[in-house]
Amino acid sequence: MDMVDFSFFGIVAIIVIKNTPYHQRVGDLWAKTIVVGGDSFVCTTCKEVLTLTPAEMLSKEFVCPVCQTTIKI
Ligand SMILES: [Zn+2]
Repeated sequence: MDMVDFSFFGIVAIIVIKNTPYHQRVGDLWAKTIVVGGDSFVCTTCKEVLTLTPAEMLSKEFVCPVCQTTIKI
């Protein structure tokens, strides 16, 4: 049973070690994307410069508060 436990936890440890750096990199990219994209966005209809929230960016569309046009990002 000790060998089975060791093998099981050894595999889990390898999976954790392999996955952690990957998830951290994805998290960094994700954060940078939101920061950069959240800077400003020019409404295609009224040309108003808008700042998008991360939630709006994730939903891939938002309603312009100036002209009420639904804009797809
Ligand atoms: Zn607009």
